[in-house]
Amino acid sequence: MRSNSPEKLREFDAVIIGAGLAGLHTARRLSASGVSVLLVDRKEDIGARVHTTGIFVRKTFEDFDFPEGSLGIPISKVVLYSPLMRRLELESPAPEFRIGRMDVLYRSILADANRFGAEFLNGARFAGSVPDRSRKGGSLVRVEKKGVIDNIRTRVIIGADGVGSAVARDLGLDTNSKWIVGYEKVFTRSAGSAEPRLHCFLSAGFAPGYIAWIADDGKECHVGVGGYPDRFDPSEALSRFIDSRAAEILDRNDLTETESRGGRIPVGGILKRIANKRGLLIGDAAGAVSPLTAGGLDPCLRLSDFAAEAVIARTRTDKPKVLLNYSGDIFEKDFSTKLIMRAGLRFLKFDFQYEWFFRALSSSPGRMLARKIFFRRSSFPDVSSSDPRRKRVLESIDAAGAR
Ligand SMILES: Cc1cc2nc3c(=O)[nH]c(=O)nc-3n(C[C@H](O)[C@H](O)[C@H](O)COP(=O)(O)OP(=O)(O)OC[C@H]3O[C@@H](n4cnc5c(N)ncnc54)[C@H](O)[C@@H]3O)c2cc1C
Repeated sequence: MRSNSPEKLREFDAVIIGAGLAGLHTARRLSASGVSVLLVDRKEDIGARVHTTGIFVRKTFEDFDFPEGSLGIPISKVVLYSPLMRRLELESPAPEFRIGRMDVLYRSILADANRFGAEFLNGARFAGSVPDRSRKGGSLVRVEKKGVIDNIRTRVIIGADGVGSAVARDLGLDTNSKWIVGYEKVFTRSAGSAEPRLHCFLSAGFAPGYIAWIADDGKECHVGVGGYPDRFDPSEALSRFIDSRAAEILDRNDLTETESRGGRIPVGGILKRIANKRGLLIGDAAGAVSPLTAGGLDPCLRLSDFAAEAVIARTRTDKPKVLLNYSGDIFEKDFSTKLIMRAGLRFLKFDFQYEWFFRALSSSPGRMLARKIFFRRSSFPDVSSSDPRRKRVLESIDAAGAR
């Protein structure tokens, strides 16, 4: 394999590997603050083969700006189904969910980052890194595109490369070891629109340890299954689900299949060691996903904001150890209840158990719990929150003279 010569080395403050939501958001944040950024993704087109349904919860679309046309019609009704197709309907007075048009969103964030000066290298794969002996804490990153290796000099490597992060392994940071898998088909409506709803199905066969879903905002409809990979075949389960449960609810004549999406979703809680002096992890690479709901989009935005603070401090002070303030330990408490509930879901193996679970949720305290799970205005811990541990981290970044 050919490689560029050392005198031609390009140099960036930060090299971000992965242009999913976490990498894109961080690229925009950093470049807007004057940090020079190279964003790298192995995909040619960042809007293709998207790795999410794209359901954003209320707190996310209330707290962050979304470009026009990047969110579908709000959904405020949820229907939960038991294995025997008993129904529990929940309605919120507020818009609770919006399905992202992820290609529109990703392209818009990339355009912003480019405007702020970030460079984007598509169709290029992270191929490892070594410490740069000529720069304190710096690295030489190897990126391979069409058989040619590019060596790039950087102060910080940011791993935004998803659940099986190669950057995490390369930097010797923690890696995800617990996950479920999700697989879905996306349909658009050829005629008119339907009432926006989120249908969630409890089922040992279709969704062992998670749910099957129909997320329908009237124009776009996502039909999917998720669960522990050792307990089902997602592709076979999805075909059966579409032909049975989904067929009872949707008029297939009105729907045109446009794509399928799928992948692993980390559910072990945020990893502890997500930074060293050479780099850090964000998004799925950091395990920043709710172990209960498997929602990872809000954490992509909030944890990336936190990471950006640490990277800005690192580049302004030239003190590599500032990055060590960015640690998963400080979020541990926030994940403990959800991890217990996740362990409970793993315990459910048979439909009769899900039926009991559904009956419990249909009782009046159960409905309160269900409303809390679906409608609570919650999110990944905010960086600016008053939690004393996170405050200390931000203060130590401030003390480094960076903000
Ligand atoms: C089927 C499914 C449905 C989901 N639905 C929802 C939902 O509705 N709501 C929600 O909140 N969460 C959902 N999640 C979780 C959420 O989508 C993820 O947590 C989130 O998208 C993670 O974003 P990310 O940027 O960290 O990683 P990704 O989106 O996975 O992006 C990683 C990027 O890194 C690139 N990459 C990987 N390796 C390399 C390499 N070696 N070199 C160069 N580039 C590389 C990939 O091409 C990719 O573009 C879902 C997950 C799945 C799998």
